[in-house]
Amino acid sequence: MRVAVVSDLHANIVALDAVLDAIGSVDAVWHLGDVVGYGPEPDAVVERLAAIGAVGVAGNHDLAALGGNEIDWFNPDAKAAMSWTRGRIGAPTRAWLAGLPTTRREQDMTLVHGSPRDPVWEYITSVPVARANLAALDTTIGLHGHTHLPMAWADQDGRIDAISPGPGSTFQLDGRRVLLNPGSVGQPRDGDPAASWIEIDTDARIATWRRVAYDIGAVQAAMRDCGLPTRLVDRLAVGL
Ligand code: ZN
Repeated sequence: MRVAVVSDLHANIVALDAVLDAIGSVDAVWHLGDVVGYGPEPDAVVERLAAIGAVGVAGNHDLAALGGNEIDWFNPDAKAAMSWTRGRIGAPTRAWLAGLPTTRREQDMTLVHGSPRDPVWEYITSVPVARANLAALDTTIGLHGHTHLPMAWADQDGRIDAISPGPGSTFQLDGRRVLLNPGSVGQPRDGDPAASWIEIDTDARIATWRRVAYDIGAVQAAMRDCGLPTRLVDRLAVGL
């Protein structure tokens, strides 16, 4: 089975469509939350994911869009974009977002937005935090997003390896406990503005990180039309 794992789409339909084009046909699409927030087309992104039967989990932006007090923790730009998102999304988007769990299991993999022990909010950005979350995993493999950075945190006989994968990098799912982060489709932050995701071949047990360029200018123009914060518009071009 070939699975595409996408995260942090952030209402960027142009990036999502570029990713789906690049993927071609897969057996499943799993998403790791933050489907909406920051970007200009939340309804279109939800509609697309629903149409292809993607399954996944809620992120902090998705819960905030539904009216949750997650918004209290947002910085001013994120808060402004979230206020806009709340006013923009339609009933079908609300219903679809409200149906998302915060943790989901697929095969021997746990899907979360933040971390296995704190699925909505915790950022896995250090070895101690990765170690604690590898210990908290009920499955061998954890899939998470939230940081917008492609990463793997692998338990190698008690030592935690932090791996920053480039495009085309692979990770053999050989029984080691591991946390895999696909990076972000809609707002990458690793210095590469191209949309990022992971493909998993569950038979060959291989995860591969992928990137694809998309029409960033078109998204920036749509964001300006919506009056979204300039800093959020600008950062798409540099991937930070
Ligand atoms: Zn996010």
